[in-house]
Amino acid sequence: MLGARSAVVSRMAGMGRQREPRSTGREPRSSEGERADKVCRSCGRRIEWRATWAKNWDDVAYCSDACRARKVRPVDRELEESIRRLLGERAATATICPSEAARAVAAQQSAASEAADDAWRALMEPARRAARRLVAAGEVEITQGGRVVDPSTAKGPIRIRRAR
Ligand SMILES: [Zn+2]
Repeated sequence: MLGARSAVVSRMAGMGRQREPRSTGREPRSSEGERADKVCRSCGRRIEWRATWAKNWDDVAYCSDACRARKVRPVDRELEESIRRLLGERAATATICPSEAARAVAAQQSAASEAADDAWRALMEPARRAARRLVAAGEVEITQGGRVVDPSTAKGPIRIRRAR
């Protein structure tokens, strides 16, 4: 009883502050609801609840200081858009590689093709982060070997497809 009440109170305390991304229903939720896992706004990885955040869990939006410092830049939104566009151009079941989005955004940014050739590599990790954020938003799935994998822990090459 007490747990449920404090969950409501803590949720109300969080209202009117930072807006959180909508829950996709994918995050595991405890029965109290107050320790529901969150997804980092920057890297798209799951933020595991920690006791040190007990007092301000509602305000936790980033998994690390690095992600807090980095935040989401305009180029990161472009990568998200690029993933959406590339998937939209293909069959619903088709997959793309994050590098395709990285190359597309790099090409937009650099008129000179040689510059774009280097720039896309720098956008590879940002493209993977963009893909994870889109998983959190319920828009896409990340696969390896044709199977959906956990974006928070997947290592190595990934593919992206529309959420089913
Ligand atoms: Zn993060």
